[in-house]
Amino acid sequence: MIRVGVVGYGTIGKRVADAISKQRDMVLEGVAKTRPSYEAAAAVEKGLRLFVPPSEADKFEKAGIRVSGTIEDLVKSVDVVVDATPGGVGAQNRESLYSRLGVKAVFQGGEKADVAEVSFNALANYGQAIGKRYIRVVSCNTTAILRIAAALRLWNIGIERMRVFIARRGADPKEHKKGPINDFVLDPPAIPSHHALDVKSVLPDIDIVTASIATPVTIAHVHFVYAVLGSGVSREEVLEALYRTPRIAVFEPGRGFTSVAQVIEWARDAGRPRGDVPENIVFRDTVSVSGRELFMVMAVHQESIVVPENVDAIRAAAGFKDVWKSIRLTDESLGLVTEGKRYG
Ligand code: NAD
Repeated sequence: MIRVGVVGYGTIGKRVADAISKQRDMVLEGVAKTRPSYEAAAAVEKGLRLFVPPSEADKFEKAGIRVSGTIEDLVKSVDVVVDATPGGVGAQNRESLYSRLGVKAVFQGGEKADVAEVSFNALANYGQAIGKRYIRVVSCNTTAILRIAAALRLWNIGIERMRVFIARRGADPKEHKKGPINDFVLDPPAIPSHHALDVKSVLPDIDIVTASIATPVTIAHVHFVYAVLGSGVSREEVLEALYRTPRIAVFEPGRGFTSVAQVIEWARDAGRPRGDVPENIVFRDTVSVSGRELFMVMAVHQESIVVPENVDAIRAAAGFKDVWKSIRLTDESLGLVTEGKRYG
């Protein structure tokens, strides 16, 4: 059993903690939080052990939230920490905690690439992460792009170049102080956006440019993907590659899927935890091939897409060598779309 702790219990941390609890080869020793909140209370109420900074323990007790020890106690008791704190905090934790206590750590995409020995996407470069001490799971948008690039490569569809135009969600649903609420913000106000560089942190040889705007939406990002493929590739071959690759869900128009909100509603109806969709959401009839040009529209459920990659990164850090077995264990435990399946 791999003993795991989650430091930072917010949007990503709580989902990763739930996913770890579902793995047969992992045990969740506890989660760490710095301030008392409804999220901390919910963690304890569902039976998780909560670890906090010693200076803050009184505040938790006053708020009626049971504490099981200090964050250092948690880190000392595990083989791998998943750090899901806000961007930049992970790098500080690496120095003050993980490095000092000699514990392996998986970081998130809000950290700079140099926080870890390897930036990670399971389909693209699992092998490079095996046994590494520090692994960084790239951000939600980057994860989605890498899955598509990896799928095409996996099924021998060469990509000469890739261009991705991203309409970002303005905030996560719980973030009541963030915007925009009535604007399209250039984010960043230049092209390329940082996403291309982030993709290259995993696949350095890819020719990619990305551009991004922020929109007044909280449910998902949307990507317009354009790629120039090798010659002689048909639309059917591209669709087959998408169908066969884990963590890519192709939504069929026959069941009325014409918007992202409908897909999230489908996930709620299907009883998925929190209405999450960790797969890439590809709309089938947007996948079109004209000569060597590929176009498609996909959505990215930012709150959950990196969860399966975090689980695989834990296994890689622990030295588990079989990428396909790890992906299968993760996806089956989370009830994700498995190979060859499609919706509609
Ligand atoms: P969040 O703000 O929802 O959660 C972060 C949690 O960490 C909060 O509960 C906060 O109280 C806690 N925290 C802060 N400092 C801490 C410390 N020193 N020790 C322990 N806990 C601490 O943030 P999030 O959206 O979950 O993002 C976490 C990371 O995941 C970031 O790197 C982010 O870039 C990345 N990420 C976020 C998304 C997304 O859409 N939300 C998607 C992919 C990746």
